[in-house]
Amino acid sequence: MAYGHTIAAISTPPGKGGVALIRISGEDALAVAERVFAPKRRGAAIKDNPRAQLYGDIRNSAEFVDDGMLTYFPAPHSYTGEDVVEISCHGGTLVTRCVLEAVLSAGATAAEAGEFTRRAFINGRLTLTEAEAIGTVLEARSRDQLRISSAPSRDILAEKIAEIREELTSLLSSIFARIDYPDEDLGEFTARESLVILTEIDGKINRLLSTYPTGKAICEGIRTVIAGKPNVGKSTLYNAVLGEDAAIVTSVAGTTRDVLSREVSLGKVMLHLSDTAGVRNIALADEVEGIGIERTRAELNKAELIIAVFDASRPLDGEDAALVAELDALGAAKIAVLNKCDLDAVITPESLGGSFDAVISTSAKDSPTDTAAALASEAERLFTDGSIRVGEEAVIYSARQNSALMRAHVFIGAAIAAYERGEWEDAAASEIERALGAIAEADGRAVSDEVVAGIFSKFCVGK
Ligand code: GDP
Repeated sequence: MAYGHTIAAISTPPGKGGVALIRISGEDALAVAERVFAPKRRGAAIKDNPRAQLYGDIRNSAEFVDDGMLTYFPAPHSYTGEDVVEISCHGGTLVTRCVLEAVLSAGATAAEAGEFTRRAFINGRLTLTEAEAIGTVLEARSRDQLRISSAPSRDILAEKIAEIREELTSLLSSIFARIDYPDEDLGEFTARESLVILTEIDGKINRLLSTYPTGKAICEGIRTVIAGKPNVGKSTLYNAVLGEDAAIVTSVAGTTRDVLSREVSLGKVMLHLSDTAGVRNIALADEVEGIGIERTRAELNKAELIIAVFDASRPLDGEDAALVAELDALGAAKIAVLNKCDLDAVITPESLGGSFDAVISTSAKDSPTDTAAALASEAERLFTDGSIRVGEEAVIYSARQNSALMRAHVFIGAAIAAYERGEWEDAAASEIERALGAIAEADGRAVSDEVVAGIFSKFCVGK
């Protein structure tokens, strides 16, 4: 992709609003702005008024399009690091499109998704970790997601990773000095001290790694499946968690024939929640329901959390027992919901044995809010570490950071082992170099083009 050309896009969401923002970035941003925007104030020139708002007319050639405000951010002190111009116009769908058309016919090219932020990354205005965090801010559906990806949290994480990088770099240069000039007293640390330092650095990496399950539960979400035989109240529970009627609820067994799936924030955690067709004996089902049951099984195998629903007003039968046995074989966390407790309950939590990590007795129909709250608190207990102060300490939340730090941990472990076996220091040094490479991936200094493209592909046009 060439970065010379000047790009433009509507940065506000599609649809009608009070105002809309059109953003332009690139070498010709100022020239493009001068072609479309005429300040009202006599004698005012855009280039003479950086970072100040100017009011004026927006035109496409000679034709008046709208009146609005313009701000010019000269390079390099702008979001992208290039010349940036932002035009605010009236927020109607058509008028906004007409302003963008004016900007494009004045020489700008339509921006691709995430291209502004990508340019900010290429021009060194943002690290990849920061760009990723901005992506999370844009997608955030819960306060904890916002907290984890906000600017102060980003800084805390970036500082932590920088601290690890600096400590490894200084250790490595000391080791190299000792290897290259064995007769001089150049190395800052002895081999024994190096081992202690490495162990401390490994402790810091492990601490970061230990935050990932919590960060993942908050940001990436937990693949969750609601399972149970037909008519126990799975769809009612699904709707209770979503707080709306997303699934059809009827008293006819086998109503939910396909897998419904939604992202929902439940307390602190995010769920990728699937309501399923139930897992009754496939011989009892018709063809369409049978396909639904097969899909349910596929979902169950991928799930990280399974919410198994039982009708507490009826005794457990063979189908319930078969479900429990089937779930026992899966590695996911499991919560049992004894539903319909508004009726006379005949199943007790004890009757389920030790197959579940938590059991909730409730009525999804009569108390949907309480049911959702009980599930939220169990999901938080199972998937987050309450001692982690989200927003105040470094928390990793992307699979990319986690796998890079995991590699750094493995390489440092190998360096420690080399020291403990009393090998030449060269062996430890090359493992430390590898660990530094992995740290560079964690903070986004050294990542492949594919990873970069993957991150920016999640952004919308105009960001
Ligand atoms: P699914 O087939 O497991 O998805 O079950 P549904 O959610 O469609 O519910 C089946 C029937 O049970 C419907 O008539 C619901 O109104 C009823 N139901 C669901 N939850 C409760 C509950 O907590 N108490 C009572 N009494 N009925 C419920």
